[in-house]
Amino acid sequence: MRRLDILVLPGDHIGPEISAAALGVVEEARRLLDLPLEFRHAEIGHRSLERTGHTIPDSVEKAARSADGIILGPCDTYGYPPVDRGGVNPSARLRLSLDLYANIRPSRSIGGVPAVAPNVDLVIVRENTEGFYADRNMFAGAGEFMPTAEIALAVRKVTAHASRRIARAACDLAEKRRKKLTIVSKANVLKLSDGLFLREAQSVAAEYPDVAVEHILVDAMASHLVRSAQVFDVVVTTNMFGDILSNQAAELCGGLGLAGSLNAGDAHAMAQAAHGSAPDIAGQDRANPCALIFSVAMLLEWLARRHTEKALADAAALIDRATLEVLADPALRTPDLGGPLGTQAFAKQVSGRLAHLAATRP
Ligand code: NAD
Repeated sequence: MRRLDILVLPGDHIGPEISAAALGVVEEARRLLDLPLEFRHAEIGHRSLERTGHTIPDSVEKAARSADGIILGPCDTYGYPPVDRGGVNPSARLRLSLDLYANIRPSRSIGGVPAVAPNVDLVIVRENTEGFYADRNMFAGAGEFMPTAEIALAVRKVTAHASRRIARAACDLAEKRRKKLTIVSKANVLKLSDGLFLREAQSVAAEYPDVAVEHILVDAMASHLVRSAQVFDVVVTTNMFGDILSNQAAELCGGLGLAGSLNAGDAHAMAQAAHGSAPDIAGQDRANPCALIFSVAMLLEWLARRHTEKALADAAALIDRATLEVLADPALRTPDLGGPLGTQAFAKQVSGRLAHLAATRP
C-alpha cells in the first residue's frame, strides 16, 4: 500500500519533549514491522507565533487536511494572545476544520501502577465540536461576548446532528466492549440543550439492543466515578462535561501522564494526550510521555481500520503492550509515578521492549 503521511505538531512546553519520545517509539515500530508510514513536522504554538504571527498558520492547517493522520503535542492555549493577535487554539481549530467530532478518552487502571481506583476500564466519548466551548461555536464571530465591562455571556450550542453522531460512535464502541453505555447530561437544569442531547442519544442507543443504556446527571457522575469507577464501560457526554470527567477518571487511574486520547472524525484522526502543556515541568525531561504514546497507538489502530492494514493494528497492540510492560516495573517509571526515569529514557525502554516483543511474537 502507499505510505501514509503523518503530520507531527509538537506544541508548547513539554510538547516537543513528549512528541520526540512518542515519535521515537513509533519510528521503532515502523522499523520493526515495516509500517507504511512517513512523518512530516511543522511548527505550531509559541514558536510559530514568533516566526509567523500565528499559532497555527494556514499552511499548517492545509498540511493537516491533506495528511493521513496527525500527532498533536499539547499547546499552551491559556498563554496565547487573543485570536486577533494570532493566538488561535490549534487543537480547537483542527478539531473543527477536520470535523474531528469524537474525542475518545480511555481510562484504565494499569497493573502495578498506584491508582486511587483499581480495576477501572472505561472510555469517555466526548462530543468535540460544540457545547460550552463558545470560542468554536459560531459560523462567524465568537459565542463569548461582553455587552458591558461587568457582564460576560457565553453561548452553548447543542445540535441533534452532533448529538446523534457522537452517540453512534459511543454505541459502536460499547458494542465491541462490555456493552454498557452511560449517557451523562445536566438535563434536569439545561432542559432544552441537554434535553436535546439526551433525547437524541437515547434514540440512537435504542438501535443497539445488545447495549444496556443508563442516564446519569453530571454532578452525580462525578461522585459515581470516585465511588465506583469500575462499573462504567462507555460514557458519552457533551464537550465540557467530557473534558472535566475524563481528567477526573484519568487521575483516578494513576494520573494525567497516562491519559491518551484520539480525536476522530469520518475522514481524519488526530492523536493528542488529554493533558495540557505542563509549564511547571517543561524542559526538565520529567514529563511522562505515556499519554502521547497511548494516543499514537490509538491513531495507528484507527489508520489500520481505515486502510485495512493489519500491520498497523499489530503495531498499535505491540506499542500498547510494550508501554504497559515497562510501566509494570517501578524502577522504569517517570517522576509523576514516583519513578527515576526521564522522558527520553522511558521511551527508550518502551522501544527496547517493543523490539523484544516483535522478535518473540508467534
Ligand atoms: P496541564 O494538564 O498542563 O497540567 C496539570 C498538571 O498535570 C501539572 O502539574 C502538570 O505538571 C501535570 N502533567 C500534565 N501532563 C503531564 C505529563 N505528561 N507528565 C507528568 N505530569 C504531567 O494543565 P494546566 O497546567 O492547567 O495547563 C497548561 C496549559 O495547557 C494551559 O495553557 C492550558 O490551556 C493548556 N491545555 C492544553 C490542552 C491541550 O492542548 N489538549 C489541554 C489542557 C490544557
